[in-house]
Amino acid sequence: SRRKIIAGNWKMNKTPSEAVALVNELKPLVANDEVDVVFCVPAISIIPCMEAAKGTNIKIGAENMYFEESGAFTGEIAPNMLTDVGVKYVVIGHSERREYFAETNITVNKKVKKAFEHSITPIVCCGESLEQREQGVTIDFIRQQIKIAFLDVTADQAKTAVIAYEPIWAIGTGKVATTEQAQEVCAAIRVCIGEIYDEATAQAIRIQYGGSVTAASAAELFAQPDIDGGLVGGASLKPDFGKIVNYK
Ligand code: 13P
Repeated sequence: SRRKIIAGNWKMNKTPSEAVALVNELKPLVANDEVDVVFCVPAISIIPCMEAAKGTNIKIGAENMYFEESGAFTGEIAPNMLTDVGVKYVVIGHSERREYFAETNITVNKKVKKAFEHSITPIVCCGESLEQREQGVTIDFIRQQIKIAFLDVTADQAKTAVIAYEPIWAIGTGKVATTEQAQEVCAAIRVCIGEIYDEATAQAIRIQYGGSVTAASAAELFAQPDIDGGLVGGASLKPDFGKIVNYK
């Protein structure tokens, strides 16, 4: 069975010194060796957080990465800058990056491929808007996002990927998807991966739910057959994250 992966996405929060203090505060609370625990932090805080997390079960990840190796791309972070300091996970294509920084399914695909080239596990984000849900096109839309994100990605690579299903209307709104809604879409994503690759890949890939996850909703969400953990925003910055990691 799939190992759960519970990741925090800190977004644009915490200075480097605040970040170190938060890692130190959460360290004892998230000590659970039965799940993978990842803190995706702002680039400038990756190195100090790595230091602070040394000797613990916490893995430090990035929130974004560029799809070129190096060069004239002012302000961007290259994959080998991340691997050089030991980063193993990177969030790709978060809805906020799509909305505010013009990321598309195509740039997401380029980043996903580049992450695999460098043996970084991408946490590939997808999710529909409220309008799309109301129009009944959620599954179609997400299948399209997934199909393009995984273009030219091999089955062996896809098996190690993490997909985060994050309905946009649930992000930062306190309006968590119902367990049924979350399970339905995560199951559809697994079917889609099975169609692109095969059943073994579909069964191996890990699919998270994200969007207003709290200690109160985590246990029921993570108990669903196709939900392999969570991508947590607001609650990952608080002691609550310890309860989410120890949801059982
Ligand atoms: P919230 O948990 O704050 O709703 O954010 C979810 C999210 O976007 C994680 O990537």
